[in-house]
Amino acid sequence: MWWRWQQADGRLHAYDRTVTVPAPDRSFPALCGVQVTPADDDFHLGGWPRPTCWTCDREIRVREGFRPEQIPPLPGEDPSAPEGPDRARTRACPAPRRSGPRRPGPR
Ligand SMILES: [Zn+2]
Repeated sequence: MWWRWQQADGRLHAYDRTVTVPAPDRSFPALCGVQVTPADDDFHLGGWPRPTCWTCDREIRVREGFRPEQIPPLPGEDPSAPEGPDRARTRACPAPRRSGPRRPGPR
């Protein structure tokens, strides 16, 4: 296989291992076309895996010559299509609530 998966910037992205060797704090071009930078934590297994980058997944399928029916639409690309296979949207963490220390109002 010419590709590998690597967690970076909160997603599981794929990269071309013939030209890329991921390292902590060193950015690399993911197959989806985004430049991502893995952190040290992204190299330790365990915990909850990051949601898959479906654009990277699609890029692998396209380059590998998958048949069209084996290449699902990207989440959000086709409103009638089900969510991504890993249900990334429903599995995503809720946005953090903005709740700082409350200051007393002016008197
Ligand atoms: Zn990606």
